[in-house]
Amino acid sequence: MIKLKNKTALVAGGGKSGRAMAKFLIAKGARVIVSDTKKIKIPGAECIRQADIPGRFGEIDIMILSPGIDPKNSFIRQALLRKIPVAGEFEFAYSFVPDAVKRILVTGTNGKSTVTALTAFVLSAAGKNAIAGGNIGIPLTELLDKFKKNSVLVAELSSYNLEKHFSRKAFATDVGILLNIASDHLSRYRNMAEYAAVKKSVFAGLRPGGVGINGLSKPEGADILKLKKDIYFRGNTMSFSPKALKKLTGAKELAYEKEKMKLLFEANKTNILAAAAAAFAMGVSAEKIRGAVYRFKPLANRLEYSGSHRGRIFINDSKATNVSSVLFALKNINRPLVLIMGGRDKGSSYKPLAGHMKNVKTLVAYGEAGAKIAKELKGKNKTITVKKFTDACMKALKKSARGDTILLSPGCSSFDQFKNFEERGKAFKKWLKNLT
Ligand code: ADP
Repeated sequence: MIKLKNKTALVAGGGKSGRAMAKFLIAKGARVIVSDTKKIKIPGAECIRQADIPGRFGEIDIMILSPGIDPKNSFIRQALLRKIPVAGEFEFAYSFVPDAVKRILVTGTNGKSTVTALTAFVLSAAGKNAIAGGNIGIPLTELLDKFKKNSVLVAELSSYNLEKHFSRKAFATDVGILLNIASDHLSRYRNMAEYAAVKKSVFAGLRPGGVGINGLSKPEGADILKLKKDIYFRGNTMSFSPKALKKLTGAKELAYEKEKMKLLFEANKTNILAAAAAAFAMGVSAEKIRGAVYRFKPLANRLEYSGSHRGRIFINDSKATNVSSVLFALKNINRPLVLIMGGRDKGSSYKPLAGHMKNVKTLVAYGEAGAKIAKELKGKNKTITVKKFTDACMKALKKSARGDTILLSPGCSSFDQFKNFEERGKAFKKWLKNLT
């Protein structure tokens, strides 16, 4: 923990995390400068343009980066050369989490938010003081005054949150979950190996007695449980290996009735296993976990049923911002589809989807990535390219027939036409509402 009184802190990025960080630093008595590429205003802070940062180096005692700021930015390199300490927003906030607080850290390419929310839901249902935050939409900084001694932090970490700048020490954790690694964010990382190394660092700081839960096909260490091998579903029954039984108190075989779940069981098996393993590690009983899993409602924008119109079903999967999450949707929805993809390209190839398009009658590709998607997925299905998102929705409707499902599973970020994936999902639902 660093003393902040009368220090000058520069917060790079004035979005949600940056604003929360500025507020926290001001409350700690620091003088705060916030930089952004756009003109912004934040009460109590001086707001400057990112391009003007180097001129202010002389005054800055510490620099804190919002998750969206690429550490390869030249002003960061220059700051490091001048020996200004640089920390990531999550990294910095984490150093203020009281030691006594148990920590469950969730990362992976896909499924993080679902597992984070489900784990926190299960723990709360079992009477624990669970606090969820991080990449799920509540910056950790905003939660720092909420922790009690018996709290359990359930934090979602993107690879950006896991990047360490300030300290080489890994994040101390009681349960570290790595769900999966698939091609994503290749515009930020040099290659898959670099991206994977960042993700795997979630296991590096396990405290004594801590549990690692690994969804990758390769084992990650003797102490780390493997999803689907040490904790797995045999049919509908959750089962455990001897190694898992030793690590997870209260674990025992337990049958689930999938009809009782509000989650799509097939699509969420690993997510349920991961959340259950974390809850077991916190001492929750198998029956309590099962009851909470039954009651948990799916999050918005993740394979979310959004309504029907003239015999068509609409599914909003706006959170599917990479190729592997589109693949996941295609594998789990077995009906005739009109698929809407597009947005801003993130550097991965769309070709891995080509062999999974058998249910897709028409593909509507929109936005900046539209042409690349259409080119890479040209096959038996009809492909249409449009520019605007709402035109893509209209085209999808026009090309569909009764009994079809119109699936928005973009495989790209939303930033070419929206502030974030939530806005894109909202636009989809609003468009649908206007139709009906
Ligand atoms: P994240 O927070 O990692 O982005 P979400 O839970 O928000 O993950 O889900 C994002 C997308 O990934 C959704 O399209 C969802 O349907 C899909 N998804 C959810 N769980 C998994 C999983 N275990 N493996 C692959 N894809 C998943």
